[in-house]
Amino acid sequence: MEALKKYDMYINGEWTASSDGQYFESFNPATGQPWCYVAQGTSEDVERAVKAADNAFYNKDWADMTYTKRGHLLRKLGDLLSENVEELAEFETRDNGKLIREMKAQLTYMPEFFYYYAGLADKIQGETLPIDKKDMFVFSEREPLGVVVAITPWNSPLYLTFIKLAPALIAGNTIVIKPSEHSSASLLEFTKLIEKAGFPPGVVNIVTGFGADIGDSLTSHPFVSRVAFTGGEKTARNIVRNSAENFAQLSLELGGKSPNIVFDDANLYNAAMGTIAGIFGATGQSCVAGSRLFLHQKIYDEFMDILVSRVEKIKIGDPMSADSEIGPVATLNQLESIERYVETGLDEGGKLLLGGKRPEHMKEGWYFEPTIFEHTEHNGCITKEEIFGPVLSVMPFSEEEEVIKLANSTDYGLAAGIWTNDIGRGHRLSKRLRAGIVWVNTYRSISPIAPIGGSKLSGYGREGGLESVHDYTQKKTVWINTSSAPMSDPFIIR
Ligand code: NDP
Repeated sequence: MEALKKYDMYINGEWTASSDGQYFESFNPATGQPWCYVAQGTSEDVERAVKAADNAFYNKDWADMTYTKRGHLLRKLGDLLSENVEELAEFETRDNGKLIREMKAQLTYMPEFFYYYAGLADKIQGETLPIDKKDMFVFSEREPLGVVVAITPWNSPLYLTFIKLAPALIAGNTIVIKPSEHSSASLLEFTKLIEKAGFPPGVVNIVTGFGADIGDSLTSHPFVSRVAFTGGEKTARNIVRNSAENFAQLSLELGGKSPNIVFDDANLYNAAMGTIAGIFGATGQSCVAGSRLFLHQKIYDEFMDILVSRVEKIKIGDPMSADSEIGPVATLNQLESIERYVETGLDEGGKLLLGGKRPEHMKEGWYFEPTIFEHTEHNGCITKEEIFGPVLSVMPFSEEEEVIKLANSTDYGLAAGIWTNDIGRGHRLSKRLRAGIVWVNTYRSISPIAPIGGSKLSGYGREGGLESVHDYTQKKTVWINTSSAPMSDPFIIR
């Protein structure tokens, strides 16, 4: 049997094993079999990585680098990424089971994140303040925070890294990245491009391993100034507690139970395709999954015919095949959790219209059929809790006010979709829905220019867009006394 590939971590510009030399297996969800080994980091490795990042932050190779030069480096990284899309997409698919066609499309677009932030490099500026004191010249400038820790989940390992890495670096910070134990390989492959681009040692460090083992030492480390986290609510609570140790600033991009609302005046075909994109794209393992579908009662039956006839034809298969439309879910745990939710849905009286089980033709791997439940009421577990799998809950509504209430009656506040040809209604609802992202007549669109993030249990802080760069900086105010007159009374405030 062919030996499994072995990945080391990357600390201070060097590839390194963990302090105790341990590796863990990473599994291919399409086969359920291990396909590589990854270094199992320890608290000592965290210490090495954070110290390397801290040293690099003060090292003149990085600290004195002009913003323009940092922009060139980031642009170069974007170019290198463009040249390596095919290979990186294959690593992502092997590691997390997402469709190769999705990963290729996503990674083909990803260089834009580097170009966008590279373009902002020389626009990170302060202001001259029209100060109300004679003889004082006062200005502000934006300076980097220091060491940033980025912690990412398994569903879009590179995208969710880039949206942190690019603004953090362009602002002049250094970074330690901890990818998910289930999907570390694509980031480690990408790290070879970081090396090639020519970032000074210690500016970017990767520590792999189990969050449960090394998460606390990473997020409570006194040298860490900011933690950018994407993942689950339980981990986020732990990080918030740890931030009491170091007062690190936080951004928390967590889960959702996002509504997709279809009105009777909508283009029903587009709305059905948007619904499918929202919940069955990425096998439902998306923070913005449109897992609750609210249908206006007038178009309920017509819409369901369109939706169901397309969902029945969805091709479940090997994510490496170009024609597969649904691949496996990322872990066996995840698969079992989805099965439990389906049982709960049935116990709660939901009507199972489609799916609800593992597909018979996929004997190996962690596959689950696209599943649709119909509900008459919005009060069960599966209509309220994030499932993170291909399970859609459908509910009817008749009034605008009613659906706004229903859509907002969740603990989450990440995303929402509205399907209507009434432009006024699109605006009205986008204001009233409690969500950080609202899509009108589209779903799952992303751009480096448009911030993402949520409220309530979906977390806080935004990633992407101009403000994201500012979030990786802090303002410094500089006062210059232009007068040569003797200082007045030193015992009163000036
Ligand atoms: P987890 O919170 O379990 O894991 C996310 C990351 O946190 C992983 O790297 C994990 O490492 C790490 N981690 C685990 N425990 C700790 C700890 N104690 N301290 C620090 N880090 C730790 O989430 P999942 O991997 O299960 O990801 C799914 C969740 O992420 C869903 O709830 C989903 O909604 C959310 N998500 C949100 C997105 C958004 O943009 N809002 C996008 C994508 C996902 P390890 O893997 O080793 O456990």
